[in-house]
Amino acid sequence: MTVIDGKQVAAQIRAELKERAAAFEAKYAKKIGLAVVHIGDDPASEVYVRNKVKACAEVGISSSVCRLSSGVSQREAESLVEGLAADGDVHGILVQLPLPAHLDERAILAKIPVKKDVDGFSAENLGRLVRNEEGFAACTPLGVMELLSRYGVPVCGKRAVVIGRSNIVGKPMAALLLNADATVTVCHSRTQNLGEICREADILVSAVGRTGFVTADMVKEGATVIDVGINRENGKLCGDVDFAAVSEKAAFITPVPGGVGPMTVAMLLKNTVTAAERSV
Ligand code: NAD
Repeated sequence: MTVIDGKQVAAQIRAELKERAAAFEAKYAKKIGLAVVHIGDDPASEVYVRNKVKACAEVGISSSVCRLSSGVSQREAESLVEGLAADGDVHGILVQLPLPAHLDERAILAKIPVKKDVDGFSAENLGRLVRNEEGFAACTPLGVMELLSRYGVPVCGKRAVVIGRSNIVGKPMAALLLNADATVTVCHSRTQNLGEICREADILVSAVGRTGFVTADMVKEGATVIDVGINRENGKLCGDVDFAAVSEKAAFITPVPGGVGPMTVAMLLKNTVTAAERSV
């Protein structure tokens, strides 16, 4: 059994991106720019924004955090994004979620041009992904594909089961696996015979958000098990998968922390570098 080391892969990707960012800067005499829109004072968002800014600095991407107070109007929030959309020094824009409840998230995200939507959350980019056209895919599922590829896990023709159908994880995950020629089943809260379906999976991806949800009896011998879940148990971070028991059966497995988590920010950086390269 191999434990997939997301921390190490993410570090390797950052090193590769550092070279691409330096090459861009040398050729076009400007830095790659990411704008992070941070509205309100959600404490978890503070940490996420700080991590993204730090990661940008590490690879040579110039990041700017545009802060608005939690009471900001819809109009003000949209016009901030419109300004960034028109700014030639900004190659990627991300709006840190969740937004304060009175704001229309969909309308604000819709102001991000498709070519700068490095989170890949817009309806247009999700549509492009489903159609297997050029665009930006959501970072977490993209990170899962990168882990599978770098660990040499075959995807083409394999049975993949994704548990979870959110717009930011489950659905883009299923689309990416399908685009890579897997035979994909998506399971969710209304799925019947979940265990039976999961046992057929060569690649099992869990994105539910419940500790201990994936048990050893749901996993086929030799399967690859990818745990996207992030849960807190008595202050400790853990995933959806019963790691100790499942790792006895799996050929490849991601731990939490240190599996998929570090890949999300690495893929945000990768999408930003790609956005800059496509802009010239
Ligand atoms: P979500 O709450 O939007 O979706 C959860 C999904 O689980 C739903 O589609 C639901 O149908 C499914 N589900 C719930 N109960 C189920 C059941 N009993 N059987 C089968 N399916 C069931 O969450 P999300 O945003 O997709 O995130 C999922 C998990 O991944 C969370 O733990 C989240 O914290 C984590 N996450 C991690 C990263 C990362 O960087 N590693 C990024 C995003 C989300």
